[in-house]
Amino acid sequence: MIYLDYQATTPVAPQVAQAMEPWIEGKFANPHSPSRWGHEAAAAIEVARKQVERAMDLKGGSIAFTGSATEALNWAIKGTVEKAGNGRNRIITVATEHAAVLDTCEWLAGNGIDLTILPVGSDGCLDLDLLAREVDDRVLLVSIMMVNNEIGVRHPLTSISELVHKAGALLISDAVQAFGRVELCNGPDLVAISAHKIHGPKGIGALWMRKGKEPAPLIHGGGQEQGLRSGTLSPALCVGFGAAAKLADERCTLDYDHVQKLWNAALDALGPGWIVNGSIQHRYPGNLNIRREGVDGARLIADLRDIAFSLGSACASGSGRPSHVLRALGLDYRESRSSIRLGFGRYTKQHELVEACHRLARAALEQEKLDA
Ligand code: PLP
Repeated sequence: MIYLDYQATTPVAPQVAQAMEPWIEGKFANPHSPSRWGHEAAAAIEVARKQVERAMDLKGGSIAFTGSATEALNWAIKGTVEKAGNGRNRIITVATEHAAVLDTCEWLAGNGIDLTILPVGSDGCLDLDLLAREVDDRVLLVSIMMVNNEIGVRHPLTSISELVHKAGALLISDAVQAFGRVELCNGPDLVAISAHKIHGPKGIGALWMRKGKEPAPLIHGGGQEQGLRSGTLSPALCVGFGAAAKLADERCTLDYDHVQKLWNAALDALGPGWIVNGSIQHRYPGNLNIRREGVDGARLIADLRDIAFSLGSACASGSGRPSHVLRALGLDYRESRSSIRLGFGRYTKQHELVEACHRLARAALEQEKLDA
């Protein structure tokens, strides 16, 4: 298999698997129990916490571990609404956000919150003047991602945070596709990340919280994570997340340069006729979302079964509905259906990517011939 679906998930790094192993096999103590073994597990979790925080490199806050970034985003948004006592009742987000944000906001809108979903331009970028006009003293929170999972477009969160904070609102950012891949923007008050997008294990995420901006707890129980997120932590998952974060921190520039080279090689190998979805300038280059007139993306996936790639986002692919992100860019039904996403990263070999792109280009031409 040639794996080109790095936005859906990433292969677990060998160093991560190695760090997790003792916590899966022999060391099973509850990290919240007072025994010597419990203390050992708790200490390992604290090392992991520091590794993740160091890799995030955000000032003035700390993380709580969660079961996923989806949970972290639900918690950030619902917990901020729950905590709010300032009469503000409005949420602003953007049409290209992940479902973990959009569906949570829609759910709140069904429960009395005033929701504004801002459009993006045809390049997937947000108009900051429009945002500035919308953020007023009724806005409680704004939720905007750092890097888009379907088209790789980056939003300028540092400038956005100045604007949002000037209006006295709180800024949440989904940094799932940014963490470990690009430098995180300072400014947001709550930042969600996920281990499995940075070569860590699935089933663990985290919410970084600026001191004083912690959302009200969503999960009640044993009072873990300083009473903010109850539930026994998994030492294996935390240690794996920490190891993945440390590695990502050490390799961030190296990995970025690698995907930049891969981006150029992929476009060369695909040849003419393909259009890149989303801004070329404001992007993370490990995400190549492309379309081609007359091509059916789902048929390409079916024709090339030993290449793992996607139709926009993993979730949208499963549903069979055209991607809400591509629709937000103004693509019509046919253009969305003719789009595919190639995602590459640390372990992608250039010759494999080039081979996959040649085969994609050939398969697209075959489709055109058959349909002519
Ligand atoms: N946000 C973005 C941008 C993502 O790409 C994903 C994963 O697909 C998520 C949130 C959800 O992350 P998790 O799988 O940890 O729930």
